[in-house]
Amino acid sequence: MAFHPDTLCPFCGLGCGDIGIEQDDSGIAPRPSGCPQADRLFRRSTAVQTAPRIGGTAVPMTQAVAEAARLLGDSRAPLIAGLATDVDGVLAALTLAGRIGATVDHEHSDALFRNLAVLRRLGWSVTTLAELRNRCDLVLVVGPDPAAAFPRLWERWVVPEPAFPGGTGRSVLFLGGDPLPETAQCLGGRIEKVGMADGPQPDLASLVTGLRAALAGHGATGPMADLAARLRAARYAVVVWAAGLFAGPQPDLIVEGLVRLIRKVDGTTRCAGLPLSGADNLVGANQACTWRTGFPLRTGFDRGMPLHDPDRFDWRERARDADVILWISAFRPEMPEIAAMAGTGTAVIALAPPETAFTAEPALFIPVGTPGIDHAGDVFRADSVVALRTGVLVVRGLPSVAAVLRQIATALEDTSMSTEPARC
Ligand code: SF4
Repeated sequence: MAFHPDTLCPFCGLGCGDIGIEQDDSGIAPRPSGCPQADRLFRRSTAVQTAPRIGGTAVPMTQAVAEAARLLGDSRAPLIAGLATDVDGVLAALTLAGRIGATVDHEHSDALFRNLAVLRRLGWSVTTLAELRNRCDLVLVVGPDPAAAFPRLWERWVVPEPAFPGGTGRSVLFLGGDPLPETAQCLGGRIEKVGMADGPQPDLASLVTGLRAALAGHGATGPMADLAARLRAARYAVVVWAAGLFAGPQPDLIVEGLVRLIRKVDGTTRCAGLPLSGADNLVGANQACTWRTGFPLRTGFDRGMPLHDPDRFDWRERARDADVILWISAFRPEMPEIAAMAGTGTAVIALAPPETAFTAEPALFIPVGTPGIDHAGDVFRADSVVALRTGVLVVRGLPSVAAVLRQIATALEDTSMSTEPARC
C-alpha cells in the first residue's frame, strides 16, 4: 500500500492541493476529502480495458488511429468538442482542428461565454482566489451557491482568516440564492442572507437592479440600502458569482449588472468581481485557444483560418450538422448524449477514460488517461491566473489525449502524402 499526500486535484478548477490518495495493486482511492467530486473521480481501478474499440470490438491502437484518421480525413463538417483535457491536449486538438477544418469548443463553455460577452462589451475589474482569501473583508455571493460546482470554495478560500495586516474577520452575504446553502455552513457566524423581509422574493436580475439603484442613491430603503452601505464601508469587497448556475433568460444581463455595480462601489472603496465558470480545465482550454488563434473557444477552421463566433460555433449548434464528432473527456468517465443531439449518420469518436459507460457505443472509442492520475499535465485554476502542474499517480498504460491526437495528425499526413498525385 502506498500513500500520496497533498495530491493536486485537477477537476473543478479550485486547485486543491491537499488530497490524500491511497494506492494498492487494485488501483487508487482518495481518503475522504470533504469534496464529492474528488472523492468520486480520484477512485480508479487498474483492472480496466485499455484497448480501443471500433463499433464495440477491441482493436489495436494502430488500427484505431487509422480509423480516426479515415473518419476525420473524409469529414466535411468535423467538430472537436468536450475538450476536457490538459493544456497539451488542447493544443494538439487545435493543431488537428486547423488541419481538418474543424470547430473547437469546450463542453462547459456556456458559463464562460455568459461572462465573456460582458467582458467584451464593458471590460471588468476582477480579482483572484488568493486576494479573496488574503485581503477581502466582505464577500457578496450573487445567485445560486457557487460551491454547487466548486465544492470546497468556502472551506479553502473564505474560512481562513485574511492573511494581511488589518485583515481581521470577514462577512459573507448571499444575495438571491435561496435558501441558504448547506455547503456554506462551514462559514458559521460569518454568513448572512440578504433579501426582502416578507413575501415572494424578486428574481436575481431585479435584486441586482435594486442594489444598483440603492448604490446610486435612488431613494432605496431596507435591505438593499443596508447592503449598499455595507459595500461602501468595506475595505475590500469581492462579488462572487457562477454564471453557469444562473437560471432564466439572458443571464449575461445579470453579469452586466454586477460588473456595473462593482465599478460603482470601486469608485469609493476597493471592490472586484470573481466570476467562476467551469470545470475540467475550461479556463485552460480557453487560454490555449486564445494564445494559439487570437480567439477564445467557439472557433472554427472551416474557412482555412481561425474564425470565432460564439453562437455559430457553440458545440450544441454544430453537433446538429457535424458528420464526425471527436469528443474529448479526459477528466471524468462521463459523456453527454451527443449521439442524440447529432444528426443521423454522424460518427462519434470518443477519447475518454476506460471506465466510461456509453448510452450508445461510439463509432470509435479510444481510452485515454486522466491528467493528474495517469499522466502529468497543466491545468488552469478557475481564476485564470495560475497554471497548475499535476503529477502521475498510477501507470495503467493509458495514453494522454495529446499523444493520441498527435498520432491521428501524423496518420492524416501520411494518408494525404500517399494519395497526392505524383509530380513530374
Ligand atoms: S473543490 Fe474542486 S479542486 Fe477542490 S477537491 Fe473538490 S473538485 Fe478538487
